Amino acid sequence: MRRALLALVALAFAAGCGPVEHPSARALDGETIRVVTTIGMITNAVERVGGSRVEVDGLMGPGIDPHLYKASEGDLRRVERADVIFYGGLHLEAKMADVLERIGKRRATSAVTDAMPRSRLLRPAQFAGAYDPHVWFDVRLWMLAVEQVRDTLSELDPGSAALYRRNAADYLAELERLDTYVRAQAERVPEPLRVIVTAHDAFNYFGRAYGFEVRGLQGISTAAEAGAGDVQGLASFIAERRLPAIFVESSVSPRTIQAVREAVRSRGVDVEIGGALFSDAMGNESTPEGTYVGMVRHNVDTIVEGLLR
Ligand SMILES: [Zn+2]
Repeated sequence: MRRALLALVALAFAAGCGPVEHPSARALDGETIRVVTTIGMITNAVERVGGSRVEVDGLMGPGIDPHLYKASEGDLRRVERADVIFYGGLHLEAKMADVLERIGKRRATSAVTDAMPRSRLLRPAQFAGAYDPHVWFDVRLWMLAVEQVRDTLSELDPGSAALYRRNAADYLAELERLDTYVRAQAERVPEPLRVIVTAHDAFNYFGRAYGFEVRGLQGISTAAEAGAGDVQGLASFIAERRLPAIFVESSVSPRTIQAVREAVRSRGVDVEIGGALFSDAMGNESTPEGTYVGMVRHNVDTIVEGLLR
């Protein structure tokens, strides 16, 4: 027990060097680690890496939009009980910034994007100097988030580091196979049709990694409403390129994309709604899309099927 406390004190002095920003007050040796996470993709990574050593409480379930999510009183109590909080960072959880900052003074927190080299992050012109937080759709980039989860848990709970290493290695191997699958699927689509039009710009990393042009109606965050000008401009683009399909998102209202479809039709061209993509939230638990791997597979299958119709 005393050793664990000393280790935590050592961690306190090491803060700022490793991925763990602040030590937890509770000694974790042998105890189940209580983890709170934000988006489902992170929840899934912590479950896979932490295995039986962790009890994971994900705040944002299926269909929940992280850009707009505000922590409730109940959430604050859940966060207060946690030994460590994993979140996306890069302003993904924009409305939770205060809570995360406050809690970071008393609890270990880890933004899974912290370990990603800034040179691998996108900084789209329309987001005024900020980084695009939707890193999970470049599977190879997301593997760095998994490594960060592994390293953070190992730092908090060194006694189980070997377990975390093994679990992470298994999961990372699965993600490598996923990356190969996505690449192979993407290559089935002829170059001129490789365009994803959807509600908000969640797919820039996907586009860069797998060779798609990406057009989002609402920009990087769903907080900004698209104006009529955007709808008309996008409709002209779709009509000119003769794109067969555009896509809605599970965590964003389909209204704006339906407006785009109508605007394309008014130009005498038909475009289908190619299906719903999971952008910032995973599918329902107990469905294949309720896991990160399943959600990415669903997305690429839906995109390829829509564009090849
Ligand atoms: Zn988003």
